[in-house]
Amino acid sequence: MSNSKSLPDTFTIYSFFTVLLVLILFVLFIFPAPEGILFSVLRILLILLVGLLFYQSLQPSRKLTEVEKRIHDTDFQSTSSFDPLTAIQRDDEDLIEDLLGSATEFLRNVFPNFTSGIYLANLSGSELVLRRETGETSQFIEALDPDDENIRQLLSSSETNVILPGDENSLYEVFIKDSEPQLSQGALLSVPIHFKGSIKGLLAVHSERFDELENRDKILLENQAIQIGSSLSLLRGRAKLFTINKFEQSFRKLVGELDLTRSKEEMLSSLVQFCEAEFSFDKLSIVLLDHKSSGKAFIVGNSGFTMDYGVGDDIVYSGTQLEKVISSQETLVINSRDEIATEGRFTVGDIDEFNFQSYIAVPIKSQHGVQGAIVLESFTSLHYDDSCSDLLEIVATELGVLINWWDTFGNIRETASRDGLTGLFNHRVFVERFEDELQRAKRFGESIVLMILDLDKFKRINDTYGHLYGDYVLKTTAKLLKESVRAIDIVARYGGEEFAVILINAQKDTTMPTMKRTVNSIASYEFEEDGITERMTISAGAAEFPSDGDNLRDLIAVADEAMYEVKRKGGNDVGLPDKSST
Ligand code: GH3
Ligand code: MG
Ligand code: MG
Repeated sequence: MSNSKSLPDTFTIYSFFTVLLVLILFVLFIFPAPEGILFSVLRILLILLVGLLFYQSLQPSRKLTEVEKRIHDTDFQSTSSFDPLTAIQRDDEDLIEDLLGSATEFLRNVFPNFTSGIYLANLSGSELVLRRETGETSQFIEALDPDDENIRQLLSSSETNVILPGDENSLYEVFIKDSEPQLSQGALLSVPIHFKGSIKGLLAVHSERFDELENRDKILLENQAIQIGSSLSLLRGRAKLFTINKFEQSFRKLVGELDLTRSKEEMLSSLVQFCEAEFSFDKLSIVLLDHKSSGKAFIVGNSGFTMDYGVGDDIVYSGTQLEKVISSQETLVINSRDEIATEGRFTVGDIDEFNFQSYIAVPIKSQHGVQGAIVLESFTSLHYDDSCSDLLEIVATELGVLINWWDTFGNIRETASRDGLTGLFNHRVFVERFEDELQRAKRFGESIVLMILDLDKFKRINDTYGHLYGDYVLKTTAKLLKESVRAIDIVARYGGEEFAVILINAQKDTTMPTMKRTVNSIASYEFEEDGITERMTISAGAAEFPSDGDNLRDLIAVADEAMYEVKRKGGNDVGLPDKSST
């Protein structure tokens, strides 16, 4: 923008003069070093001047005017909105200025005896800001609140409204500064500037005398509003391509980096994080249909407002606007509370609890049909339009593909990563996950405990009762091990009757109770099948990253050694590498 361009120029000029004056000072002080009061005064003056110039050169070249502040209102800083006007104004502020200039010229020519004003929505959509005004004295108020009930009504009509002083909703007084409705003979014409179905501004014409306004003026004003609207949409077309391009690039980068071997939950949480950075909302929900029971769905992703629905909640969506989206398979944009289905947002009756004003829902589709929806909601009205839906549809399309991929290949992969007998991770996945966890722990400066466990005298079970009973013991042991540790810990079948447990973000001393409990869970269990009852014990050895080793090989060797030490002592215990076996 223009003020940022002028900054380096000004800076160069100030710097030039500063250097010049310093040179003169040098001459006055050092070179011939002339004496006398006159020279002393000259020196002091020059020092002051150099100081002043230096100070000036550090100042920004121009302060923002009141209108500019309003256009760039502060709450925009905290959100990143893909509001079309945002995109336009960031890149095309100069073009908008041209557009406003010619519109003002037109209004001045057509309504020479009246005062005209052009309001445009600011970047965050929280205010309509008076961008231009014709006439000698300023009559219009600087900013209008689009969430005000009366302003909203005015904006929702497509025709010119005639507003008279003393109207029941006092709109005249809202627009006209210092108006005295009892005395005024004036009248106000107002027409919203629509573009692509959403409201982006407002034109107003004020006459001091009601009887001077004619029907023709209404039509002229409406035409001008349409003109501005379509010019804005031309600008928007340009900005939109640019925005979509940039958005697609960063979204592709995200999808490219997604680790598809991870769970669906992790994939969804990466998408939620992406949306947090790219969209403006008070609540985000990702909903997936429950294919087993029609009319039901689950919330699988969530951000923002937490008072109503959260991840894992199941909802019955029939009779809500979510159902409209699911059944029509079309994006739904709602920009005023009045349009929100009275039945509900996600479930019947949830509309009255919270004051959401704007709503956009994009269906998630895959080749198997609609899978769910991504929903953004905002407490401010006029928050979403089809520019936002273009971008959200990109996310929804990709999510549909990912869900499809996950359902088809994710399950195959999942099966391939499990041990067929126990259902635990197999040796390959154990190694992969351990490497991952080591990397993660290194990054965050955390520690990990690896536990290697081996059933004591297991061969005897096979030899005595046969392999099927042996299999039963292995399966049950796996179940008991899993139940002894936290869900985030990784339990794997390391080999025949050997198991490995990775305790995430843990230390040997603090997890000793967990490790003891794990060993005891086997010893205290009564194995029973086909009328055969048996008791088993297990031996465990632990090693800690980074204190006992910084790589997979070393840590396994250390834990193995500690485990064999326990075996030598009779088993059924946990051993630590420093021989302080407990
Ligand atoms: P220790 O106390 O020293 O650990 O003795 P152990 O008998 O437990 O160890 P050993 O290594 O001598 O025997 C392990 C046995 O586990 C041998 C093998 O047949 C059996 N085994 C390995 N995989 C399976 C399996 O999938 N099912 C069954 N039933 N047995 C298995
Ligand atoms: Mg063994
Ligand atoms: Mg054994």
